[in-house]
Amino acid sequence: MYLARTPDLLRPLYKDLLWSMPTTERVVHLTFDDGPAPRTTPWVLDTLARHGAKATFFCIGRNVAMHPDLFARIRAEGHGVGNHTWDHRNGWRTSTFAYLRSVLLCQMVTGTSLFRPPYGKISREQVRALQGRFRIVMWDVLSADFDTRIDGDRCIRNVVQNVRPGSIVVFHDSIKAAPRLRKALPAVLENLTANDYRFVALPGGTTGLPASRQACIPPTRS
Ligand SMILES: [Zn+2]
Repeated sequence: MYLARTPDLLRPLYKDLLWSMPTTERVVHLTFDDGPAPRTTPWVLDTLARHGAKATFFCIGRNVAMHPDLFARIRAEGHGVGNHTWDHRNGWRTSTFAYLRSVLLCQMVTGTSLFRPPYGKISREQVRALQGRFRIVMWDVLSADFDTRIDGDRCIRNVVQNVRPGSIVVFHDSIKAAPRLRKALPAVLENLTANDYRFVALPGGTTGLPASRQACIPPTRS
């Protein structure tokens, strides 16, 4: 079960996590999870560029190691990057030790100060362990493009009906989400632009790694 808009009631319970940016300006923070993926990420980058939009990509470390050219392109085009673990770990089903290891492996190829827990599932202990090093980014608006039971039009409504100034919106540049994403992203960009919104990358999404260091580190046993 999920809600397209995170209830305001929930947020004070998890106030260490970032749900939206505090602002009255009409800015939106689009985020793309689970890439980079060769069949989707270049299209997302082209579509964002057509609208002069900047976004933040929460990358799976394994995918960055497999597609360093795509990761380099995300950076070169002025978007932010975030850590999304090496292998898309569910924090509720992973020991804190193994979870941190997966985050650190991803960090070797992303070098960012933003982190988003896969599935939004992270334990209190894991939050405490990561907090000093990362800003943990959740969302207030879900496009639900991962949901194969809905269509792209529904994803458009999920976003445009729920966005507010400073919203953090989740999309996926994954192959699975592509049928809905390809319909929803251009329409969302057009609709929100017509409503005077600008699309800005989240602060802290620059990487400390030099451009040359998109090293492929070998996947390790987990
Ligand atoms: Zn994910």
